[in-house]
Amino acid sequence: MSITKRWRWLAVLAVFLLVVTACGDGEDETTTTEAGATTTEATTTTAAPEEPTTTAAAPVGEYVRAETLYTSGTQWGPPSNWNPMVTWGYATGTLGLVYEPLFIYDPFTDEYIPWLAESGEWTSDNVYVVTLRQGVKWSDDEDFNAEDVVATFDLGEKYESVQYHPMFEWLESYEATGDYEVTFTFSDPLYQEWGNFLYSRPMLPEHIWSSLSEEEVTNGANENPIGTGPYVYETHDQDRMVWVKRSDAWWATAAYGYDPAPTRVIDIVNGSNNVALGLVLQGGLDLSNNFLPGVATLVAGGYGIQTYYPDAPYMLAANTAWIVTNNTKAPLSDPEFRKALANSIDVSKIVQNVYGNIVSASNPVGLLPIWEQYVDQDLVAEKGFSYDEAKAKQILADAGYADTNGDDFVEGLDGSEIALKIIVPFGWTDWMESIRVISEGAMAAGINLEVEFPDYSAYADAKNAGDYDTLIANDAQMSNTPWTYYDWMFQEPIMETMTNGNFGRYDNQVAFDLVTELDKVKLGDVEGLKAVIGDLQDIQLTDYPIIPLWYNGLWAQYSTAVWSNWPGSGDDQNHYLPASWRGYWNMTAILMLCDLQPTPTE
Ligand code: CA
Repeated sequence: MSITKRWRWLAVLAVFLLVVTACGDGEDETTTTEAGATTTEATTTTAAPEEPTTTAAAPVGEYVRAETLYTSGTQWGPPSNWNPMVTWGYATGTLGLVYEPLFIYDPFTDEYIPWLAESGEWTSDNVYVVTLRQGVKWSDDEDFNAEDVVATFDLGEKYESVQYHPMFEWLESYEATGDYEVTFTFSDPLYQEWGNFLYSRPMLPEHIWSSLSEEEVTNGANENPIGTGPYVYETHDQDRMVWVKRSDAWWATAAYGYDPAPTRVIDIVNGSNNVALGLVLQGGLDLSNNFLPGVATLVAGGYGIQTYYPDAPYMLAANTAWIVTNNTKAPLSDPEFRKALANSIDVSKIVQNVYGNIVSASNPVGLLPIWEQYVDQDLVAEKGFSYDEAKAKQILADAGYADTNGDDFVEGLDGSEIALKIIVPFGWTDWMESIRVISEGAMAAGINLEVEFPDYSAYADAKNAGDYDTLIANDAQMSNTPWTYYDWMFQEPIMETMTNGNFGRYDNQVAFDLVTELDKVKLGDVEGLKAVIGDLQDIQLTDYPIIPLWYNGLWAQYSTAVWSNWPGSGDDQNHYLPASWRGYWNMTAILMLCDLQPTPTE
C-alpha cells in the first residue's frame, strides 16, 4: 500500500470511528447468536473504538491470497460444530459448502433450482416423486443415491429431537422406488412447508449417519463432515474455519458448469467492528456480513467497497424488525392501545438517524420486499398505521385512556398508572438507539414507555418466558414462503415457554387456522396465497399482534481488492444473495462463489 493510500485509508477510518462513537457505547460482541432454525443473527453491535487495526488476517498455513475468499459475520465463537442438524451453531458453510439439499431456492425468482434432486414432481395431490441426480459422490468417494435420502428421513422419523421430526405427522411414508428415485406419500400435504424442507434440509450419507445415536445426530460435533458439496473441511482454529475445494470434481460442474472460484473459503470469527472494517478496507476480508454503521460513506468514497445497492438502502432486506408487545398484560392486551403505540413511532427517524439509511421502513404488515406482491395495498391504505402523534393520542382517548393525574401520561382503564419498558440486548447499539426513538415517540403520545438494556441471555429468557412488556425482535427470516412469517407471528398453542414465535402470546386460533390453511396452498399458487394472506393481514391490522417497523438488512459489504463480479442490483450484475450466514448458502449464495472472478492485479 502506498503512503498516499495509507493516509487516505486512515482518514476514512477516523471518520468511521466517529460514526461508531456517535452510535453508542457498545462493547465488543460477546453474546451468542440466537438459536433459530435456518436463521442467523442479523443484528450485531458496534464496537467501542480502540486503536485502528491495521493487521491483515494472520494466515494459518500458507494460503495464496488470490485464491482465498475471506468471509465473516456468522461465527461469534471458535468453530466447534460441523453438524448440519445443529442449525443454529454449525460452522458456516457446513450446510451449503459441504452438505447439500435436494434443491436450492432463489428468493428473487421464487424458483427451486434442482440440486441433489434432478427433478421433483407432484404425481397426485398427495404424492411427490423426487428423481435424484446420478454421478454425485460423497467426499469419501461413496455414491450418493436413494438410500441416503431415505436414511435422512429415517433420522427425522426415528428421533424426536431432530428438528424436522414434526413433519411425520403429515408425511405418511417415503420409500426408494428406484436407485435414484424416492416417492413421498402425504396424509395431509403441507405444500409450503414441504417447499421449505426441500431447500433447507441437507441430505446425509447413509453409510455414516444411519448408525449414529440420537445424541450424535442432533448434538454431535461431527468433526469429520462428509458431504456432496464443493468444499471439504481442511482445518480450523480459535479465530477461523478453513474450507478447501474437494480434490475430485463437484457434481455441479458437470451438471451446470458451476465451479466455485476460491480454492479456500476462510470464515473469520467476528471480532470488533474496528477489526472487521479495517480488514475490509485493506482487502484482508472479502465479504463482511456484519452490521457496519457508516458504510454508506465508504461505498461512495472509492475504496473498492461495494454493497448490493449502490445507494440507499444499500442492503437487501433479510428480515423484519418489529415491536413485540406482551399481549397478555394490560394495557398491552388492548388492541387499541397497541394501535396507538404503532402510530406514535417515527420510523423514518430510526431509518435516518440510527441506520444512516442502510435500512428501509417496513410496510405496516411487515412483509419483506421479496413478498411485496402479497401486500393488500387497499387494506393497508384503509387500516395501516404511520407516524402521527395526534392520531395516536386520539386512539388512546377514544379507547378511554386519559391522563388523570396531570403527568402527561395516560392511566390504565382501571385508573392505575402505566409504566412500561421496552428492552433490547445491551451492546446491540443499533437496536439500543432505535428503542430510544420509540420511547421518545410513545412518551410524546402519552404512553409511559422507558428503555432498558438487559444482557442478551436475560433478554432471550424474558422473550421466551413472556416476562417483559415490549421488546424488539426479528426472528422470521427471508424464506421461500410468507407462511414462515405468519407461522412465527401467530404460532399456537400458547405455552409457558415460547421458542418458535408468537413471543407476544397473541391468542387467536382462527388466525392460526388460517396459517395452517396457508401452509396447504400449493407451491406456485400465488392467487391462493394472496387470498389467505389477505385475511391474515386484516386480522393483523385490526388487532396489531406485533408492530412491524423496519427491514433489517442482509448486511453485506464486499471488497474488490481480490475478488470481483459480486452480486448487485445492476442489470449487468448477478442477483445472488451475498451472505455467508447459516441458511443463506442454499438461497443462492453458493452461486455467488461460482460467479466470483479474481480481480486483475495492477
Ligand atoms: Ca397520568
